[in-house]
Amino acid sequence: MKLISAGAAQTVTGSSHLLELCGKKILIDCGLFQGPREIEARNYEPFPFEVSELDAVLLTHGHLDHIGRLPLLIKQGYQGPIYTIHATKAISKIILLDAAKIQLEDYERALRKAKRSGRESEISEPLFGNGDVDKTLAAFRLVDFEQPLDLGNKVIAHFRPAGHILGSAFIELDCPDGRIIASGDLGNRESAVQEDATLPRECDAVIVETTYANRSHRSLDATLIEFHDVLRNSIKAGGNVLIPSFALERTQNILYHLKNMIKAGDIPQMPVYLDSPMAAKMTGLYSRCANEFVPEIRERLSDGEDPFFPETAKFTISSAESRKINDIDGGAIIIAGSGMMTGGRIVHHLKHNLWRREASLVIVGYQAEGTLGRRLINGAERVRIFGESIVVRAGIHTIGGFSAHADKDDLLRWLKATGKARIYMVHGEPEVMSEFERSLHQLDREAIMVAQNKFYDLP
Ligand SMILES: [Zn+2]
Repeated sequence: MKLISAGAAQTVTGSSHLLELCGKKILIDCGLFQGPREIEARNYEPFPFEVSELDAVLLTHGHLDHIGRLPLLIKQGYQGPIYTIHATKAISKIILLDAAKIQLEDYERALRKAKRSGRESEISEPLFGNGDVDKTLAAFRLVDFEQPLDLGNKVIAHFRPAGHILGSAFIELDCPDGRIIASGDLGNRESAVQEDATLPRECDAVIVETTYANRSHRSLDATLIEFHDVLRNSIKAGGNVLIPSFALERTQNILYHLKNMIKAGDIPQMPVYLDSPMAAKMTGLYSRCANEFVPEIRERLSDGEDPFFPETAKFTISSAESRKINDIDGGAIIIAGSGMMTGGRIVHHLKHNLWRREASLVIVGYQAEGTLGRRLINGAERVRIFGESIVVRAGIHTIGGFSAHADKDDLLRWLKATGKARIYMVHGEPEVMSEFERSLHQLDREAIMVAQNKFYDLP
């Protein structure tokens, strides 16, 4: 059995791992590299395997960093099946079409700018377009959780719930040579929405994500108390409350908590705008898929209640509706993307609210270095938005406890169930993995930090 990683090796994006077992070549995920330009440049590099020789692609979940290079695989001649859970197919369609649209817009904008300045455009052509996405989606084959999938040569795959986002799975592969498990992204046991990840079976090798393998998340109770306090004080200040949010998972979590708080009278009945067409689509999926959620949400959905739609919610889809929100100078909660404030409708709302002393910005997600979100957390007194200098007078609050990823304790508990399996660490920063490796050594577990494009012989 062999492993070669084509991404998410000593970094957190570009997830893609090729497994060879019993004569079959199976690719787990085919994600996009995201982040600074030098990382994104890797999307243009060739895959470290012969695309036409792949037998199957198996997807763990629909995040862009796990599916975003699928259209490249198809463009380069892959004609086999892409197996996944039903919800992941629905999510992938929304995510890939959005990625194609953004790439085209960025490319055309750069081209126009270059023309005006009389220089050559520096931006590369889009990686893929809508047509490539359509061809990719046509290759999808649906599988159910816990059902055996026969991949030939006695290789059997099982998709098991990973508790990370809607549709997320980890994958167990069995064949006469042994058993390999690939974790995909594992969920946070303190999620209020997703059921915990299923525990894996004992195996020979396990490929595990390590995004937050060196830290412990704050408890859900403590996070909710903090979130509630921040909201109450922000609402009291009288201005608008802006919540930048990722369209998938974080938005649905925030809507769910807001609905509960409004219902319980913990915060006043006030308009909640979800100003993101993509997040609205994702929320629609969450409202239609009950089986992966905690029992309380499952029951509410089967009773005909939508736990992701506060009574006072308005989902604004058109740009005209979105612009109308600019006229509101206080008393509304506005949720919009992008999550790190690098683009999207949230930027317009920041321009209209950051200068107001009574407004509040409540940050509920990770803000990478170099983003507008990070500058605001770091206390920037002024920011440039659409060429305008905006003074920052609004209250800036960070709620760190919401995470869709397993922490160190979650990972150790999950890995314990794999018995004596050799551990291959992926999807993490090297410092985080080194720290985690030491914890694993104390438990007598052997762990390897996987390097990209390198062959590993699995036990
Ligand atoms: Zn993920």
